[in-house]
Amino acid sequence: MTVFDTRSVTITFRSASFTCPECAGEQPYHHQKVRKYLALFTYPVVPLRQLGEYVECQHCQGTYALDVLQRGRSEPDHTERSVHELAMRHTMVLMMLADGEVDDNELDTVLEILNRFSKRTTSLIDLEVYVEQVRRQPQPLGTYLRRVAPSLNDHGKETIIRCAMAVASADGKIDREEVEVIREMARTLELTSDQLHHIVLADGAVAA
Ligand SMILES: [Zn+2]
Repeated sequence: MTVFDTRSVTITFRSASFTCPECAGEQPYHHQKVRKYLALFTYPVVPLRQLGEYVECQHCQGTYALDVLQRGRSEPDHTERSVHELAMRHTMVLMMLADGEVDDNELDTVLEILNRFSKRTTSLIDLEVYVEQVRRQPQPLGTYLRRVAPSLNDHGKETIIRCAMAVASADGKIDREEVEVIREMARTLELTSDQLHHIVLADGAVAA
C-alpha cells in the first residue's frame, strides 16, 4: 500500500448569487478552489499548489470560468457553454481523432450524443468546424483531461464519462480495450471506482 500520495481537494472559497447562463436566471453559486494535497494513507495532510478554480451553479451544477461573475446581470449570455459542455465536446472529438480518421458515421454519432447530453444544440457544420480546429492542435486525451479536471465538479466529470461510454457503445458493444480507456479517463479525472461503478450501473442500458 502506498503511504504517501497526492490527491485533489475542492473547497468552497465564497458563496453568493449570480446570473447563470444555463438557468438564465439568478441562482446561488459556490466559488470552488481545487488544490493538490500530499496525502497520508489517502488522507490529505499538506496543501500543495492550487490546480484550478471555478464557479459552480447550485441549481444546475454547471461550472464556469470566474469571468462569468463579471457579466452584467441584465444581459446574461445565453450562448455561453459551461466548462463541462465544452469539455465533453472536446473529449469526444479527441476520442474521434485518436485513430487519425473521422468518417461521417462517427461525426453523426458524436453529434447525436453531444445534443443528447447538452442543453444547447450543435449543428453538423459547427461540429465539423470544431473537429478541424482540434485536428490542427491535437493533444493526447489524458493530457487534456488532466488540464481540465480542476475546472470540473463531479457532475461534469461524470457527464464526460457517460459521453465516452455512449461513444464506445455506439457500435452496439463496449470491448475490453474501450473499457480500459474509460477506466483510465475516470482515473485521470480522479473519479473513484465507486463513482465509475455507479455511472456504469446507471447507464447500463447504453453500455450493454
Ligand atoms: Zn445554473
